[in-house]
Amino acid sequence: MQRRDAFPAALAFLLAAHPAAAAAPKVAASIAPLAGIAAAVLGEDGPPALLLPSDRSPHRGALQASQTRVLADADVVLWIGPDLERGIGAALDAMPPTWVAEHTLRAEAAQGMRHRPLRRFAGDAEPAEGRTGGDDPHLWLDPGNAAAIARALAERLAILEPPRAAVYRANAERFAGSMTALEADLAESLAPVRGRRFVVFHDAYRYFETAFGLEAVAALADEPGEPIGGRRLAEVRARAEADGAVCVFADAQAPEGAVTGIARDLGLKPGVLDPLGAGLEPGVDSYAILLKRLAEAFRGCLAR
Ligand SMILES: [Zn+2]
Repeated sequence: MQRRDAFPAALAFLLAAHPAAAAAPKVAASIAPLAGIAAAVLGEDGPPALLLPSDRSPHRGALQASQTRVLADADVVLWIGPDLERGIGAALDAMPPTWVAEHTLRAEAAQGMRHRPLRRFAGDAEPAEGRTGGDDPHLWLDPGNAAAIARALAERLAILEPPRAAVYRANAERFAGSMTALEADLAESLAPVRGRRFVVFHDAYRYFETAFGLEAVAALADEPGEPIGGRRLAEVRARAEADGAVCVFADAQAPEGAVTGIARDLGLKPGVLDPLGAGLEPGVDSYAILLKRLAEAFRGCLAR
């Protein structure tokens, strides 16, 4: 009897200990990797809503009405910035600037981010208008940047929900610590393929490459999904030969099997890289799993 009586008391205590549970800030993340980082910071208050699906490139496409509703309903919209998620940029342009200032958090502006300029490979055409400068927006593929994003989100959540500030900050610090450990693990697992060269479908992996000593020598398209012309293919083939490339990597968001014919044409081994984590449910560990899978895909193809 005594044990039974203890249950309601324990329940009452739990409810009292989490008075803010019902008022947890609503976070919407643009892409799955950011949703994973946000899930780690939110802990019990997560997971966040995900705005853009991982089976498609985030670069293009307007938001659907349902996505715009999720965005407008959020207390915090965590996104990279207008150079990456152009559909979100367009949706935010239509909202009142004061709402945007109060409800959005641009990962690219987080304190302590490592920024890398957009690169051009030897033999690339002149960049198209609007793509002439600025930073490479694929900045989530660096574990140090993920830690910086987690801390920035924790600070924003601390303002929105002061009673939970310590929890969010502790979650962000735990996540940042796990990123330091992950970076060391991945560096060790990628050591055997350090310096080995490759071609990519689109130039999305620079932050990961720089963090772990890998090096793309050419990209087949300036934008994901762009048709690859014969001249571009010939140029990339020459570059790959001159630089001793081993593999060509398609993005997981490209049509299945797209890499097979290209790899044959280029005389390279085919591989697939997933910068977003297609099929990975955003959760506290999903960002780490995304990076581990990426490392595994690089290693699997580049190892001789
Ligand atoms: Zn991209």
